[in-house]
Amino acid sequence: MLKTGVVADRAYLNHCAGHEHPECPERVRVLLDMLGGLKRNALRVIAPRPATRKELTLCHDGAYVSFVEGAAAFRDYQFDPDTYACPGSFETALLAAGGVLTAVEAVIGGEADNAFAVVRPPGHHALARRAMGFCLFNNIAIAAAYLIETLGLQRAMIIDWDLHHGNGTQELFYRSSRVLYASVHQYPFYPGTGAINELGAGEGAGFTVNAPLPAGCDDQEYLRVFDELFAPIARQFKPEFVLVSAGYDCHARDPLGQMRVSEAGFAAMARRVKRLAAETCGGKLVAALEGGYDLEALAGSTRATLEEFGREADEPAASAHAGRRADAVIEKALFTLSPFWSV
Ligand SMILES: [Zn+2]
Repeated sequence: MLKTGVVADRAYLNHCAGHEHPECPERVRVLLDMLGGLKRNALRVIAPRPATRKELTLCHDGAYVSFVEGAAAFRDYQFDPDTYACPGSFETALLAAGGVLTAVEAVIGGEADNAFAVVRPPGHHALARRAMGFCLFNNIAIAAAYLIETLGLQRAMIIDWDLHHGNGTQELFYRSSRVLYASVHQYPFYPGTGAINELGAGEGAGFTVNAPLPAGCDDQEYLRVFDELFAPIARQFKPEFVLVSAGYDCHARDPLGQMRVSEAGFAAMARRVKRLAAETCGGKLVAALEGGYDLEALAGSTRATLEEFGREADEPAASAHAGRRADAVIEKALFTLSPFWSV
């Protein structure tokens, strides 16, 4: 059995809109309850540390960091119609970014074989100078930049299975060949980015991989994207660390999306990223929570992911044969990326 670190803390409850909002503290509360009921010796709960200003500025402008800090002086502040701050938000956002760094450090330091960071606010929409889509700081991007800039790794991969395209993460590494960003998402949909032909630019050309799936896709379509598009490119890229933007809003019961992924589907995706990490970088893998707004689906799917992370090198994952709605997207993405990869 593998030792999985789980970064979790009640402090993540301290970011709260003054009105009803899907990105609510109850999301973390149900996950803390779920973790309490999860009987596993190999599960190690780790307290997060806050990110430092220097770490935040790996991805964000210093002036933007101060702006987010300033926003928390208001009783409630709206960055945009979706994205809010309250007096606890800045500290909570520091702990969200720092929580993913804590998870990375636990894996690098050998405290855990892999890790999952139960953090909020989420991060993958946050841009260098702008909060959006419930996100203040780009937690997963800061972790990738930390691996490269601070720890001196050459290559990191970010796999993003959240319902939405991670426009912030894509933008932050669009010109980099050090970070391979691969996203599967509902399209067209918020935030509007993530088309196949958004493939990176300059040195980063070919290092952004988008699988924009139509609404209604299920486990089979998602798994085919992993097997036929992400895995072959990842094997050539050879990441030294695999990061996952783990959003559970593509679950069939989620109120915000129209995808149909099940708990078993998330387990199967988790198995694939774990195998990819095992093949390319000795299993170094950290997932960070992004979206997921049906509380029961969120808890069940996170649990399925954690159970899969804890399982030792497993039998080969059953390949997906159905999922015809992904045909055109996979075919066009492979063609579009063929100048950059042997696919
Ligand atoms: Zn999302």
